[in-house]
Amino acid sequence: MLIRGGTVLDVDGERVGDVRIGSDGRIAQVGLDLVAADDETVVDAHGCFVIPGGIDAHTHLHLPVGSVRVSDDFDTGTRAAAIGGTTTIIDYVTAYRGDDPMVALRTWRSWAEPSVIDYGLHMTFTEPVPESAVANCVEAGVTSIKLYMAYPELLQVDDDTIRAILRHSVKHGALVTLHAESGGAIEVLRREALAAGRTGVFEHARTRPAELEAAATDRVATMVDETGASAYVVHLSSAPALASVRAAQERGASLFVETCPQYLHLDAAALAASSGEHFVCTPPLRDPWHHDELWHGLAQGWIHTVATDHCPFWMHDRAAGMRGGAHFADFTEIPGGLPGIETRLALVYAGVLAGHITRGDWVRLCAEAPAKLFGLWPRKGSLRVGTDADVVVWDPARDQSLDAAALHMNVDHSPYEGRTARGWPRVVLSRGQTVARDGVFVGEPASGRYLERTRPLLDPGTGFDRADSWHDPTGH
Ligand code: MN
Repeated sequence: MLIRGGTVLDVDGERVGDVRIGSDGRIAQVGLDLVAADDETVVDAHGCFVIPGGIDAHTHLHLPVGSVRVSDDFDTGTRAAAIGGTTTIIDYVTAYRGDDPMVALRTWRSWAEPSVIDYGLHMTFTEPVPESAVANCVEAGVTSIKLYMAYPELLQVDDDTIRAILRHSVKHGALVTLHAESGGAIEVLRREALAAGRTGVFEHARTRPAELEAAATDRVATMVDETGASAYVVHLSSAPALASVRAAQERGASLFVETCPQYLHLDAAALAASSGEHFVCTPPLRDPWHHDELWHGLAQGWIHTVATDHCPFWMHDRAAGMRGGAHFADFTEIPGGLPGIETRLALVYAGVLAGHITRGDWVRLCAEAPAKLFGLWPRKGSLRVGTDADVVVWDPARDQSLDAAALHMNVDHSPYEGRTARGWPRVVLSRGQTVARDGVFVGEPASGRYLERTRPLLDPGTGFDRADSWHDPTGH
């Protein structure tokens, strides 16, 4: 296949060029005015950007949550991802207390078999583990470990456990990712709210203030300082937490950060409106002024990736709550999480159109940096010769409704109902096979492969001048 006449945009800059896909599913050639062979399929990319396939490093598919389950499984979720330009996901395995982590990994691997795009898995520990548990994960291609600083009932670990796992991870070549919210203080606020009869949906946001995200982020930074490890804060949502990260990075801490489209585009007012339960996610949506701070952090390279935390629920499951009643009795029973696996590239591209970030930033945040940090580089995340031909031909002129009815995620509501995105994939390739064309999935079932990930590459790039780094690959 020859993708001809587009503007190629990846780690090597932005230039007009053609991209040839080999029969082995890898990038065979990138250059100017390549001539199509007789048997070669030609894709016209004039007016389009040709970019590496998106990598969504934070998803939850198939996941049981209390008495309900995430509405997308690995089949439906990855089809939607492909349509929106994401060709790799990394989903979170959880080893609950008492579980054998390797058994949990096998469970998720069997759930993930229907994936139509390539997938990796992170491991979540919810209790202290021996060093061998981390070594076993790395051996299995799981080079990132998740730890929660919130949800004491089910998931939270204490700081001594975090320190120990940070040390094991440095030794074995894994990156620790952290849900940074102060779980103990949040529990107090939740109990106080319920005791005072404050049970409404908006209490979800009031009991998880940004200050408690910043406080936990400070603790992460301190533990990174103490152990000499690196860490990655997932779904950072607020300006105070970003300030905490920035202070740590300033003194040299190896601290990486992810945010999500919902923290760039949605705000807490949605929780106060009717059907506010459909906007419950954790950390909660914040006041709108945080958006500009986060975009600035993305542009400056202080926040390194944008992932989705995709975790959709049917409206009737939201309303029922996760304890199995007819209707949730209070805000603590609402299953939390938003759909987003399909709309990430478009919602980050909106930041390009608004002038918040450059096109180079967009590609770095959505593909290059997650590939590097999660041990997929150089196989994924660029259009360099020899890498997997995961390619998106992005049509910047296409308008796409973000209503649930116009999207493909297996869920009956959209957080972006009534909005239209400018820019959407025309063609999406996974290892050289066309998986989506003009908003339709055209791939094969279960064609995704499990990715054994390697050691994290802790230099995700900053991409400041990417938009200025025009160069002609032929040297003219
Ligand atoms: Mn999550």
